[in-house]
Amino acid sequence: MSDGRTLERLQKLSHLQDIELMIREAEDTKTKQREEEMGFTLQGLEKLRAAREKWRNQVDPKDLRVFDRIAKRHPRAIVPVEDRICLGCYMALPTSINPATADPDRLMTCENCGRILFWLE
Ligand SMILES: [Zn+2]
Repeated sequence: MSDGRTLERLQKLSHLQDIELMIREAEDTKTKQREEEMGFTLQGLEKLRAAREKWRNQVDPKDLRVFDRIAKRHPRAIVPVEDRICLGCYMALPTSINPATADPDRLMTCENCGRILFWLE
């Protein structure tokens, strides 16, 4: 990823995703007991929700729309790429997807599963 701005956008989205996933886990009744054992309180959930609001305001609104649309189908909307493999669906990415030549204003998404690709190479 040559464009620092794109990397920053992806990092923000990735951070937002982490918070979303933590809220999801905290709200999941199956994990409630474990969290109580770990000392997780309702106050913690409130903190997470406040952090979510803060980060949703940090993210580019255009990126947020893409993120929300994908997150409806996949809890993990952003996935890393490893050896040109999308780690969301494990499909090899076509050579047409190339971070070096991609439009820096558009987030790259997997053609197979539609997830946002976090390309660190
Ligand atoms: Zn994929």
